[in-house]
Amino acid sequence: MELVTNSLKILNEEDKKDLDVARISEDEKSTASRKLYIESYGCQMNFADSEIVASILRENDFATTSKIEEAELILLNTCAIRENAEQKVRHRLQHLVPMKNKRKNVKIGILGCMAERLKTKLLEEEKIVDMVVGPDAYRDLPNLINEVEEGHKAVNVFLSREETYADITPIRLDSNGVTAFISIMRGCDNMCSFCVVPYTRGRERSRDAHSIVKEATDLFNQGYKEVTLLGQNVDSYKWQSADGSTVTFANLLEMVAQVSPDLRVRFSTSHPKDITDEVLYTMKKYDNICKYIHLPAQSGSSRILELMNRTYDREWYMGKIDRIREILGEECGISQDMIAGFCTETEEDHQDTLSLMDYVKYDYGYMFAYSERPNTPAAKKLTDDVPDDVKGRRLAEIIAKQREHSLERNQMSVGKTYKVLVEGFSKRSQEHLSGRNDQNKMIIFPKENFQKGDYVNVLVTECSSATLIGHIVA
Ligand code: SAM
Ligand code: SF4
Repeated sequence: MELVTNSLKILNEEDKKDLDVARISEDEKSTASRKLYIESYGCQMNFADSEIVASILRENDFATTSKIEEAELILLNTCAIRENAEQKVRHRLQHLVPMKNKRKNVKIGILGCMAERLKTKLLEEEKIVDMVVGPDAYRDLPNLINEVEEGHKAVNVFLSREETYADITPIRLDSNGVTAFISIMRGCDNMCSFCVVPYTRGRERSRDAHSIVKEATDLFNQGYKEVTLLGQNVDSYKWQSADGSTVTFANLLEMVAQVSPDLRVRFSTSHPKDITDEVLYTMKKYDNICKYIHLPAQSGSSRILELMNRTYDREWYMGKIDRIREILGEECGISQDMIAGFCTETEEDHQDTLSLMDYVKYDYGYMFAYSERPNTPAAKKLTDDVPDDVKGRRLAEIIAKQREHSLERNQMSVGKTYKVLVEGFSKRSQEHLSGRNDQNKMIIFPKENFQKGDYVNVLVTECSSATLIGHIVA
């Protein structure tokens, strides 16, 4: 197993949110004369951005396709968070060389974080690339495409302090028609020392709250039953309305929850330093705000957390977990991100991470070996000195621990009944449906007469560390 640069998510086989896995645009029914193929890598923010890109280009006579061979424009929306995410895109470009040689008119663009990080260097290193476009420059795509069609290479990697694409209605790609993502903010001001995001996505800015509520309302009217509010740090959402009043994340959650009791609301990601009691009480107040929090710890060692510039220590993080349990109860789903083998991490620091996991008992997690990213504070000031085999072993121990806890947490659900939103057929059988409960756990059950978009009550009868299995009860 390629552990050092590998990431593993203990989630469930049904879940499609795999990190670093490409998502491909769908065949759009449209009279547009030109075909656009988009492949998106990395986080949910990137998938949401690809939907904005598709919308901008629809205005320019492009319809999306899932067949790369029929596209005249190929866009790869990239991730730069770890080295292997960038390697994946480089390999993909190599695969595209024969096609580009055969079909000279095909244009290839690199979007997203890798475009922002490498800028014109990407054009020098990857000769088949025609266009490099950073995350804040998508409105300029039509002009950049014109430039490319005139025979030039095109680049726009300007970062903005204002751009939120608030007025653009995303075209849903790869959608199940039931659940959708809504970007509520862009960028990040946190400067965690290991992280490239502040450099690739720029300063934090919050989107107009009314445009978010409108997008949620439109989705509900189209039949969607769940929205996930997205941002690198949703709890620091803050928007000033024209009358001077401030909308906080707790206010926004409430506004979206009030769209309809039949519209479920989720959000991601929460930074432990910013999630407030007000947010927790708002979650408690509304049945349709899902009781699930993704609360990345990154490490259980206070010394490492300080080097990471996370601005909290182990005790503070544990206090936050206690508060979540006090206000939302033992059942509230909690998941983590953890990094193994950060600079100077000792065996004792690693044991602190494992013992923090024992304290919290996360429902699931996303776990990574530390990957040094050029020009981040950690790369400049610290030494990536944990040997690869040690990183790999520690990561494996964290993953094994998470698997134990996921099973333990799932076993707590056996014998209980949950309201589940049906998202579609189970991957393995057309006789079974799958959907998630409030706590974000995927449940599989015989379909009876139900279908995608229905809410059903499911009694859980068995489980694995990844999935719950049950049947519908009245
Ligand atoms: N903003 C979110 C937060 O603070 O939790 C998520 C940011 S990032 C897209 C997702 C995860 O990637 C992080 O939580 C961290 O665990 C991981 N990550 C970021 N930089 C990394 C690096 N240099 N090496 C390994 N993992 C990294
Ligand atoms: Fe990166 Fe930290 Fe911002 Fe998350 S909060 S995006 S880890 S800098």
